[in-house]
Amino acid sequence: MDVRLLEATDDPERVICTAARNDYSAPFVGDQSFAETMATIDGQTIEEKKRNLIGRLLDHGHFGPFEHPQATFAIEGVSRSCMAQLTRHRHVSFDVQSMRYVAFDEVDPEDVRDGAMVVTPPSATDPDWVGRNQRGGGVDEETVEQREAVFRESVTSSVESYQELLDLGMAPEDARFVLPIGTEVNIVMSMNARMLMHVSDMRAAADAQWEIRELTEGVLDLAGDWCPLTFEYYEEHMKDRKNRLAP
Ligand SMILES: Cc1cc2nc3c(=O)[nH]c(=O)nc-3n(C[C@H](O)[C@H](O)[C@H](O)COP(=O)(O)OP(=O)(O)OC[C@H]3O[C@@H](n4cnc5c(N)ncnc54)[C@H](O)[C@@H]3O)c2cc1C
Repeated sequence: MDVRLLEATDDPERVICTAARNDYSAPFVGDQSFAETMATIDGQTIEEKKRNLIGRLLDHGHFGPFEHPQATFAIEGVSRSCMAQLTRHRHVSFDVQSMRYVAFDEVDPEDVRDGAMVVTPPSATDPDWVGRNQRGGGVDEETVEQREAVFRESVTSSVESYQELLDLGMAPEDARFVLPIGTEVNIVMSMNARMLMHVSDMRAAADAQWEIRELTEGVLDLAGDWCPLTFEYYEEHMKDRKNRLAP
């Protein structure tokens, strides 16, 4: 998979701090410089003041100000299974590549056998991989070779059947019914910084599936570049705790 930051609110932590200061400020923040707005916050520099205020907001559970900055991510090549999990989050906006208007008629089924178009779960190739809800532990090499053979044969033949149905004049929207849930999809999604922390609480957690965890870690890395003080605090003090942004 590939995850990129497409667009995001400029200077998101200035927006967060200004919104939070508005709540306790008699003067109108719209008439003040940022330095004036932050004047009573502890710290020698504006950066220090921002760090202190953001840490305090997150520590006290004052999450509203984190709803103002928004980021848009482009995601390439996750499974439709992962997409189904991700799109359960109702305060995230999505655009999903259509299987009604995009036909995978050019894909060579032999490339599918080699891993194209359908996501290969690690348990199909790694004997030591132990998935959640899996009966027993790792398996021997021979078993995993069998697993991989069954998996590859199944996804290849699905794509062959799909293309055969297209050749027989079936519309992509109906032919897609034979494609596996592991079929890759591209997504654009937008959310605010609070929601990003909430999605991470749920989807970077140990009980989430490996694919959405990997995706969430990718999004978190990008969020750390975009909104550094917030996600540094989140990683250090909040991540892996019981979800608390949406009690
Ligand atoms: C490990 C794991 C396993 C899961 N297994 C299943 C499963 O087997 N079957 C299944 O169906 N789902 C499953 N889910 C999905 C899960 O139940 C949620 O639907 C999904 O994660 C969306 O998160 P959310 O409920 O926090 O809502 P979001 O849409 O992310 O909303 C964020 C918060 O807003 C508030 N909110 C939003 N809408 C409402 C509303 N209508 N009413 C009240 N409050 C609201 C809630 O506080 C919510 O936490 C699983 C999720 C995880 C992480």
